[in-house]
Amino acid sequence: MNFEAIKKETIMLVPNKEPALQRIPSEIRIDPLTGRTARICHFMKLAWEKPDFDALVSGTDAWCPFCGAKVHQLTPQFPAELIAEGRMCKGDMVIFPNMAPYDSIGAVAIFGARHYIPMTEFTPS
Ligand SMILES: [Zn+2]
Repeated sequence: MNFEAIKKETIMLVPNKEPALQRIPSEIRIDPLTGRTARICHFMKLAWEKPDFDALVSGTDAWCPFCGAKVHQLTPQFPAELIAEGRMCKGDMVIFPNMAPYDSIGAVAIFGARHYIPMTEFTPS
């Protein structure tokens, strides 16, 4: 069985790096059984800085469509043949259709009345 790989190279000038001319390898590998291809790339290391969530969230509760009674006024509803009440509600939790669906049935869940809940404060209940 022949495993074919087509070696590639990207050459570019990268600011603030020595040597100035960088050569970045990649390759295309061809599956000998299916003929399908895959690309093998070497991405640069991504270093993310943790955002200041308190600053990002501050003041957004005033216009948030998911807070308080607004969730029942501003969010879409499922058709009655799917969910008779339009939205699924349990206590202060609400599930409604996703306005940007990625499949035939997609939903958004509101996990309670708090405007912002850090992921580290999610609880099983
Ligand atoms: Zn909110």
